[in-house]
Amino acid sequence: MRIREGSKLFALSAPPKASDGFARLVPYVERYLALVPNSGSYTVDDLYKPKDYDNLHPSSECLMCMRRLYFEKNPKYADQMVEKIDTELQVTFKIGHALHGMIQHWFENMTDIEGLPDLVENEAKVTDEALRVAGSIDSILKFPDVEEPVPIEIKTKTADLFKSLSAPDAAHRLQLGMYLMLTGLPYGILLYISKDRPHSFKEFVVEQMDMGPTLRRWQQVKDALDAGSPSLLPYECECDTSKFKSCPCRGFCRREGVIRGGGIPIWQPPTTM
Ligand code: SF4
Repeated sequence: MRIREGSKLFALSAPPKASDGFARLVPYVERYLALVPNSGSYTVDDLYKPKDYDNLHPSSECLMCMRRLYFEKNPKYADQMVEKIDTELQVTFKIGHALHGMIQHWFENMTDIEGLPDLVENEAKVTDEALRVAGSIDSILKFPDVEEPVPIEIKTKTADLFKSLSAPDAAHRLQLGMYLMLTGLPYGILLYISKDRPHSFKEFVVEQMDMGPTLRRWQQVKDALDAGSPSLLPYECECDTSKFKSCPCRGFCRREGVIRGGGIPIWQPPTTM
């Protein structure tokens, strides 16, 4: 008998086991949505979060330029940051928050349905005081017949980026790798959803990895903060590149007062009369 995808029978059947032995999330999401087309009301977290100057954050800082991190963690530079969060970018953030809320709500609901994964926790806080690392895992799920809980990170992509996605982004891999190091769990799943139609999913298993390179970069930043100077930290961009042009520290990171190639003028310290 052929089981039609999206049918009640499909929803009640156990997804086929992945040949590599890792849990897979998307087949369970498909079964859940076939069973529960309307999951009820849920809350979207669009709260203002004050900047954390004390800790390093796996969600966005694993690959961040070390000089930028130095400036980001030092409140005295806050007023000089050039950050343009226009309407378009705000809407992008809000769509991301809404999709996170929607999927995290599905995970909450799945817990009540036999044969589907149980939610251990949404927004699970992970911290390491000694390393000064803090973050929160989007969700942790306990899959049927899988011994250890599995951390899940939800990521959104535009249709073009989603289409060409054949491996997880390096920054996302490192983020999840850091969570695995902090929790001791063997692997996690990066779940990507397309923000545009068709709203497809892709998932990638990420195993524990050597986080030494990231931790060493972060240590250099902490040493520079303790020393009160970024002078030993390398410049990680060229002046005319998109990395420079989108960096909020571009106005004060280089104080040479040089305008290269007609690019954005570099901030010059005021001259004293
Ligand atoms: S301007 Fe370049 S070197 Fe300076 S903080 Fe930004 S990315 Fe790093």
